[in-house]
Amino acid sequence: MCQDPNCIFCKIAAHEIPSTVVYEDDQVIAFDDLNPQAPVHTLVIPKAHYADIADDVPVETMGAMVHAVKEVAAKKDLTQGFRVISNKGADAGQTVMHFHMHVLGGKHLGEGLLPEE
Ligand code: 5GP
Ligand code: ZN
Repeated sequence: MCQDPNCIFCKIAAHEIPSTVVYEDDQVIAFDDLNPQAPVHTLVIPKAHYADIADDVPVETMGAMVHAVKEVAAKKDLTQGFRVISNKGADAGQTVMHFHMHVLGGKHLGEGLLPEE
């Protein structure tokens, strides 16, 4: 599996750095965000290293990511809904350069997609 020795999320995927794992299969892992922005804030990542959503992520891996999002929603009991965000690049504020999806929920998130300026 493609890993970047300097990547923190590769280390989490390899269980070299501890995290609170919510879901895991052979392709992806989901774990709670260290700095939660909502009552539920879980990250879904591929175990292989891709820089972001626009990298050459295989369709099969994308399918596994979306499956994991649904598993997280079920395990976290997000029956009232949730939001999925994937930041790509500087304008989006991406800070960890390993493709990830944020799953946010557990409260009414409001209708705007972006924080108030
Ligand atoms: P980004 O800004 O790149 O879309 O999101 C990166 C996310 O990763 C942030 O929400 C940040 O709190 C989270 N994060 C960064 N380092 C760690 C870590 O070591 N463990 C966990 N669980 N989350 C992390
Ligand atoms: Zn990585």
